[in-house]
Amino acid sequence: MAQRPFHHYLIDMTAATPPRNLFVTTALPYANGKFHIGHMMEYIQADIWVRFQRMRGHNVHWVCADDTHGAPIMIAAEKAGKSPQEFVAEIAAGRKQYLDGFHLSVNHWHTTDSPENVALAQDIYKKLKAAGFIFSKTIEQFYDPVKGMFLPDRYIKGECPKCGAKDQYGDSCENCGAVYAPTDLKNPYSTLSGATPEMRSSEHFFFKLSDPKCVEFLRHWTTSKDRHGVPRLQSEIIAKTKDWLGEDGKMGDWDISRDAPYFGIPIPDAPGKFFYVWLDAPVGYLAALKSYFDLGKAKAGGELRSFDEFMAAADTEQIHFIGKDIAYFHVLFWPAMLKFAGYKTPDSVNVHGFIQMGGEKMSKSRGTGVDPLKYLELGMNPEWMRYYIAAKLNANVEDFDFTAEDFMARVNSDLIGKFVNIASRTAGFLHKHFDGKVAADESSASAFPHTAVGQHAEEIAKLFEGREFGKALRRIMEMADVVNGYYDVSKPWELAKLAAAGDSTARTNLHAVCSHVMESFRLLSILLAPVLPELSKRAFEFLALPPQTWADTSKPMPAGHAIRAYQHLMSRVEEKQLDALLGVLADTPESKKSEKSTKPESPKNGASSGNASGKPIASGVQAGAASANVSDNGIIGIDDFTKIDLRIAKIVNAEHVDGSDKLLRLTLDVGEVDANGKQKLRNVFSGIKSAYAPESLIGQLTVVVANLAPRKMKFGVSEGMVLAASGKADDNSTGLFLLNPHAGAQPGMKVS
Ligand SMILES: [Zn+2]
Repeated sequence: MAQRPFHHYLIDMTAATPPRNLFVTTALPYANGKFHIGHMMEYIQADIWVRFQRMRGHNVHWVCADDTHGAPIMIAAEKAGKSPQEFVAEIAAGRKQYLDGFHLSVNHWHTTDSPENVALAQDIYKKLKAAGFIFSKTIEQFYDPVKGMFLPDRYIKGECPKCGAKDQYGDSCENCGAVYAPTDLKNPYSTLSGATPEMRSSEHFFFKLSDPKCVEFLRHWTTSKDRHGVPRLQSEIIAKTKDWLGEDGKMGDWDISRDAPYFGIPIPDAPGKFFYVWLDAPVGYLAALKSYFDLGKAKAGGELRSFDEFMAAADTEQIHFIGKDIAYFHVLFWPAMLKFAGYKTPDSVNVHGFIQMGGEKMSKSRGTGVDPLKYLELGMNPEWMRYYIAAKLNANVEDFDFTAEDFMARVNSDLIGKFVNIASRTAGFLHKHFDGKVAADESSASAFPHTAVGQHAEEIAKLFEGREFGKALRRIMEMADVVNGYYDVSKPWELAKLAAAGDSTARTNLHAVCSHVMESFRLLSILLAPVLPELSKRAFEFLALPPQTWADTSKPMPAGHAIRAYQHLMSRVEEKQLDALLGVLADTPESKKSEKSTKPESPKNGASSGNASGKPIASGVQAGAASANVSDNGIIGIDDFTKIDLRIAKIVNAEHVDGSDKLLRLTLDVGEVDANGKQKLRNVFSGIKSAYAPESLIGQLTVVVANLAPRKMKFGVSEGMVLAASGKADDNSTGLFLLNPHAGAQPGMKVS
């Protein structure tokens, strides 16, 4: 048997280096709602990296948990008539379908409302206190006398101190954009009870971030390199930390306590005081890992050390994946807490941007976005999404835009057109002419495609290691192009005809060509396996090979190896599937505010105003609040109905929309004025073109859903929805009938 051209394959790097021991985390999702696509993006990013490391022979322990504490969950649970524990348990029960659905190989899922987290958070606190990093002082804060609790900023509303707009939140005005403190609001009220809040004083505990030792440590830690000589933070984040740390004295201290009633972890020796959720949430990483070890799951994975031994070991690398919205907490508070409590500090914090749509953060409240559960329920292939997200990701802190066109092109043209088709077009020849067996490779010609692919395995490995997934996929698709080009130039279909006619040279050539191409397919399947674990698994089954590791890129298929009959590996994505996916999502009015809540609380504010906001740790796109309650029989309460702000609108203009055969562009007067008292008109797209000539509508009154979140459409932003009836008309044709109020109704009148 002739030797394969081994010199064209790179040596097995994994054998040369001892396995790394990696403790990997993804941001803990706040347990007040379902997962959204931003969570999935982060988990897919981490999963690709984790699977790559496992394929390289490294030991990876990836844990995550629900972030369960804080005022928002306490209040949401109360509203739902549940205990906070019941509330978060229900959320936790819904996680598995997403994790399994998108092939996320997280080793253990835990909760911050756990004995491990209580013990670890209290231990860290006690050690910080013993080291002189905790102090207390009395602060003044709004208190709701009816609810009997101090009010986080997000539960205080009032009139804007600048423009006088009503119902503005405690931090900024949505009408004029002014930024202020909750104490600046005129006629403030508690959104929980409606009561006028009182200023009350309370003793709070602070972590002394301003301590020169702490600032010095952070300056060094944030700019230093990990054990592999790679900066532990990305350059964008280093630039931010330089700004945050700034000149001496800029770092404020961090308010880490909240007063009862609070759903959280009690502060030792301080009755009625709890840790602010942002203190115990990242400790949840350690708690999840401890639970994973204590349950024997690490041992089952071959890790024989205890949690304590593992965390004390010098070779344990601690790596966090997070979104840019929570970088502040992870690159300042978290390493400082760990350092001065005598715990291991993180090796690196990998920060990603957001997945957007039409240049805006995806948001349920704006009716834009990809709902991951809907995606799965529509039967869409999770690996399409994994491939698409991987193709868009790089190692920088950048946002990217999801578009249906791009998604279809990547999946159909690249993934299926370039990669999957390699196997489908080649397998038939091998089975028809050679009993499914690959030929011995007698040649060392470097022009062969598999040689080229094998040569690039280490280059691809470096890209995966550095989270340059988009670049890795581009290179892999370039290689697929080379393989397809080789196939086309070699014309196996012609060789097959000649072989069938008895041409033995053509037969030998046909066997060589198909074998080269099939070997290339095997190599590409290995390189793509971190991104496409299921597809690769099925590819290896089709190739009658065991699961392949990265080292197998340097070991060719043995000569004469028989592959199985080709089985369908992946379907194309269809436009109608994307249309169904991107239909308007359910409106969740509260989600807009919860997005704001991850805005990092600056330590200065923490010290001075005692900001009591609950801060979800979730990253990526923020989750909406718990979805509106609709009972099983479809009946809604009056509260749900009154959430819909129906108004009389006057159609001041109506016109055709270039390029749309369904829509009319309506300009509506809904009785609104802007901050300067000028009439404000709305732009609304309506799918009523088939029923109305635009000029016939001008001057008419109708009903509009005025508080529907603006929706970005191909032709512009639609700021509401006009109501129309549809169904069979008298003459049995399908009709559309715009609602029209009786005479006398005026633009802006409320419909109820
Ligand atoms: Zn204002």
